[in-house]
Amino acid sequence: MAGIDIEGLATVYPNGVRAVDGLDLHVADGEFFALLGPSGCGKTTLLRTIAGLESASEGTVRIDSVDVTRTEPGKRGVAMVFQDYALFPHMNVAENITYPLKVRRVAAATRAETAERTAGELSLNGLLERRPGQLSGGQQQRVALARAIASQGKVLLLDEPLSNLDARLRLEARTFLKKLQRDLGITTVFVTHDQAEALALADRIAVMESGKLRQLGTPREVFARPVNTFVANFIGSTPMNLLPGVVSSSGVSAAGGTLPAAASIPSGAEVTVGIRPEYLTLSTGDAIGPGLRGTVVVAENLGVQSLVSVDCDGTLIGVTVPEEQEPSVGKPVFLTAPPDRVLLYDRESGELLA
Ligand code: ATP
Repeated sequence: MAGIDIEGLATVYPNGVRAVDGLDLHVADGEFFALLGPSGCGKTTLLRTIAGLESASEGTVRIDSVDVTRTEPGKRGVAMVFQDYALFPHMNVAENITYPLKVRRVAAATRAETAERTAGELSLNGLLERRPGQLSGGQQQRVALARAIASQGKVLLLDEPLSNLDARLRLEARTFLKKLQRDLGITTVFVTHDQAEALALADRIAVMESGKLRQLGTPREVFARPVNTFVANFIGSTPMNLLPGVVSSSGVSAAGGTLPAAASIPSGAEVTVGIRPEYLTLSTGDAIGPGLRGTVVVAENLGVQSLVSVDCDGTLIGVTVPEEQEPSVGKPVFLTAPPDRVLLYDRESGELLA
């Protein structure tokens, strides 16, 4: 069982920056785990600290139940793929893939067999004699992955593995990476600043801010119930609507109307109301029950859906609708949402209220 256990971890750079600032985390055996957060939140530092490329200032890192906090990188049983792939330009693909084995003095025949097999797994057949400079970006990325896998680490660490690929290749590589991880079943931690990538790939996501963990959960959990307004703002292709509201006996008053709310908060409490555009329903007919009245200001085509901005008593609210139901600009509309989709956050701290 090659899980990763992190306890009270802090990584402080010599300039005093606490890039990782007191973190507890458990990555389960075989899990595909994403470290997500904005630039500078400490995700790369955390990954490098797990790998042993940065040393922990406080706390412990255990891999496969063994304390490796003070173990040198080569002896931790981790394989890492760097953002720029770090391939050796003067070696061909086969030599690149098997370099870690050569360092360990594995016999040439075994290395050749490993190169063939791994190249097959990563769709690199026929490219073994080429040098990195003669490969596409996607192929280089797969060679870097092949080298990591061939080294037979217990844990795979990927630093922004898809960021150097163009948009179309990135989607292709995403599917490939997910299938490969499933097939190999190797515990994998990957760093990304792209929330869509984390939602698409990961079994679980750790959202970080300023070296700290802000939320840990499945893609579904962090999307549907962000535990604070930071995560709410960060996750989702269309931003969550966050509006000031006041709790009332019938729900929560906001943007000149009332929305139903499931949380049991005392009436009169001032909150921030959070609703995803995807969970709002827009109707153009007669208004029934609680909801928000407004006027369509603009509609943006997102492909099969449209993101409609509605002015509700001076507050702009985004709602996604199927493309064919896109209302015309200036049309009066009515917005409703199921109570369990209306989230209430503390106005001061930004934390989710029960
Ligand atoms: P990005 O997505 O931009 O790569 P990140 O979330 O991976 O960002 P880190 O690279 O881990 O963040 O950096 C975390 C913090 O530590 C930042 O404030 C950064 O400026 C600082 N930092 C990173 N490397 C060093 C270093 N070698 N010395 C001093 N400070 C550093």
